Amino acid sequence: MSDTVCVYCSSSDDIDDQHFAVAETMGRALAEGRHRLVYGGGQVGLMGRLAEAVHEQGGSVVGVIPEALRDKEGVAYEVADEMVVTGTMQERKAEMYSRADAFVALPGGFGTLEEFMEVLTLKQLGYHRKPLVLVNTGGFYDALIRFFEQLYEEGFARRRHGGLYYLANDPSDAMAYLDEYEAPQAA
Ligand code: AMP
Repeated sequence: MSDTVCVYCSSSDDIDDQHFAVAETMGRALAEGRHRLVYGGGQVGLMGRLAEAVHEQGGSVVGVIPEALRDKEGVAYEVADEMVVTGTMQERKAEMYSRADAFVALPGGFGTLEEFMEVLTLKQLGYHRKPLVLVNTGGFYDALIRFFEQLYEEGFARRRHGGLYYLANDPSDAMAYLDEYEAPQAA
């Protein structure tokens, strides 16, 4: 059971509607499961839709945003239950990392990939044993998984580390995984 779930997702508004529908379902599912959302604090793209959906379902939203983004008009989700303002992007990631019991990535761009890769690398190195989930809306992450396969085949990563994250078909699959997750024993 994960009390606080960190969700990484796209800040873009120029993406297919299916992704907004999934962000909304994810937000509702988090609130229904009584999980607090911690996320990048934006009202843009999937981030905004996700946070609104958590609130619509009576859940709690914690945003973590760097000063520079907070000061840009129309970026921050002003009605978050708590908004943590950090000096830098690096501090923002560290704050989200320390507050979260689990990490979920919906489809996203460079920012989302970077955030997810960091928590995956930290788990690979044994810094944490928290659950990690990629939500593979419409096969969005298939190409990334194929690239991971290349990494294993060419010896750049260990195949067993592919078990450090879960590839979910949709938010309900992701939530079921989080609810049943048992942390692996320390090596
Ligand atoms: P991207 O996938 O490149 O759209 O980046 C989204 C991720 O990076 C989110 O999970 C946020 O933590 C962070 N991020 C990028 N852009 C913004 C923004 N405009 N407002 C808040 N967070 C952002």
